[in-house]
Amino acid sequence: MILLPTPLLLMFLLISVGVQEKTRPTVQENVYQQRRDAMVQRHLKDRGIKDEAVLQAMRTVERHKFVPPEQAPLAYADHPLPIGHGQTISQPYIVAYMTEVIRPNATMKVLEIGTGSGYQAAVLAEVVNKVYTVEIVPEHGEAAAGRLKEMGYDNVQVKVADGYLGWEEHAPYDAIMVTAGAEAVPPPLLEQLKEGGRMVIPVGPRSMTQSLMLIEKKKGKAVYKDLIPVIFVPFTRSSKP
Ligand code: SAH
Repeated sequence: MILLPTPLLLMFLLISVGVQEKTRPTVQENVYQQRRDAMVQRHLKDRGIKDEAVLQAMRTVERHKFVPPEQAPLAYADHPLPIGHGQTISQPYIVAYMTEVIRPNATMKVLEIGTGSGYQAAVLAEVVNKVYTVEIVPEHGEAAAGRLKEMGYDNVQVKVADGYLGWEEHAPYDAIMVTAGAEAVPPPLLEQLKEGGRMVIPVGPRSMTQSLMLIEKKKGKAVYKDLIPVIFVPFTRSSKP
């Protein structure tokens, strides 16, 4: 047995308590974990989301950290939430649904247009290999990049630019996900989709319900399928914000 003088012993005890405190989830974190588990059961599984990797990602990603602090208590209800600059973060069901639709797997490279808070990018990062995401509002892009880095999502890269043009440098992509409502499918995105790849995009006139579309590239041609009606904030262009 090592005998330590009392002040040293006290310091040692304090340090070990400190270390334990850091690794153990706080009561608040446990509450949020329970809410996420309940959200996954009630809003996702019970409503038909089946992909186990997607469900696990939705249990893991801390949605309350992607919304303004005053919205955090509402983070695990199935609602879109405001994230500033007139933008919203999609409701959890739509995030899970769109992620499932691209049939994600751990080898895929995915492009997202409309980073927003970075939440959808984080969910993607849990289930695919690499995520490239483009945001047109610099404040959102920069905040999301910082948040994702701090949370340890090293497999996500954020760029502030007009996503209409995609992100040519890293193309072609196994899947492309657009999270703003477009009036038509931007041709550069179709070009940057791999043969056999899948794109999910809300398409429709501005300020109206859009149709969430699945586009598969087969023998160089785009094959369209209507999925569900959705409401997304508009896809803007840098020339007419
Ligand atoms: N996926 C986001 C929510 C998207 S909200 C999340 O998980 O939080 C839609 C986002 O698309 C907004 O941040 C908006 O600024 C962005 N956006 C709109 N038009 C765009 C464009 N042309 N290129 C890139 N981003 C765009």
